[in-house]
Amino acid sequence: MPNLVCSVENCAYNYDYLCALKEIRVAGENAVDAHSTCCGSFRDRTETITNCEYCGGVTKETSVCCLAEHCAYNDSNVCCADGIDICGCGSHSARGTECASFHAV
Ligand code: SF4
Ligand code: SF4
Repeated sequence: MPNLVCSVENCAYNYDYLCALKEIRVAGENAVDAHSTCCGSFRDRTETITNCEYCGGVTKETSVCCLAEHCAYNDSNVCCADGIDICGCGSHSARGTECASFHAV
């Protein structure tokens, strides 16, 4: 289970650069670089969804299901990296996010 740091401040699940979810899904079946991946669990923060709803559940131990099979850290759709960085400052959709830790096989 990788240490996850996330800079997607517009995501409802982001709290102080951590992810409040116990599991996320990274998309990018055919990705050959970080830009072709994204956090499929992204949820845009809205007026009814705020960070605070998830503060209590924030943990660095977020398991990562990942579809980017061309990444060296992908082990049968489970991320086995020690740590990953999810990026996407200013994004209001999953497409603007990425796993910056993607490392091509
Ligand atoms: S973008 Fe993904 S990793 Fe980042 S807080 Fe949202 S769900 Fe968690
Ligand atoms: S480091 Fe690789 S395997 Fe882990 S989430 Fe990122 S793209 Fe997927």
